[in-house]
Amino acid sequence: MTSKILIVEDEQRLAETHREYLQNAGYETAWLADGLTVVPWVRDNAPDLILLDLMLPGKDGLDICKEIRAFSHVPIIMVTARAEEIDRLIGLDLGADDYICKPFSPREVVARVKTVLRRSSPQAPPGEQILNLDEERYLATVQGQKLDLTAVEFQLLSILAQKPGRIFSRNQLMDRLYPDQRVICDRTIDSHIKNLRKKIAVVAPELELIHSIYGVGYKYENP
Ligand code: CA
Repeated sequence: MTSKILIVEDEQRLAETHREYLQNAGYETAWLADGLTVVPWVRDNAPDLILLDLMLPGKDGLDICKEIRAFSHVPIIMVTARAEEIDRLIGLDLGADDYICKPFSPREVVARVKTVLRRSSPQAPPGEQILNLDEERYLATVQGQKLDLTAVEFQLLSILAQKPGRIFSRNQLMDRLYPDQRVICDRTIDSHIKNLRKKIAVVAPELELIHSIYGVGYKYENP
């Protein structure tokens, strides 16, 4: 099935270049230049991925990203003109899947799109998976060996592993683990991660599945 990529970009020539390269790579594309049109379009058309420019007329990429995340998990790649802005954007918990900084080559865009789509597509067949999660029984195995996890540790691992490669901030993990509570300090996440790593190391000491992103948070990566 052809993936449909929505390009949100107010510079027409840039948008046309993206379209050309993405279409040559086998993707269907759509293009919007006005920030105000994006959210309704996404509701109606359910694209497979969005390339979202930050600075747009009508409504900026930050607000658009937040609004889309309220109803959809569609992968979003944020496009920004300033590299130093990326750390700040990640810290804002927007829920974007990746960030690209202008100027970039069209080939780089195609490569990022491919990577993000691969990550968000269904997992490899069970035989090839290093980690298996049985959500009903809260049972996790690594390389076929059972992990001795608490319910919270299981949930944490599950949140991270469902989006390999995606960086989650501590706040995002807190919100998902404790949606009704605001009492817990965010170092709680660090302690759970520490325990989780220890328990994984018991069965597979050579595997590094959970990675720390300094100053930002954590991600799960398949080796
Ligand atoms: Ca722009």
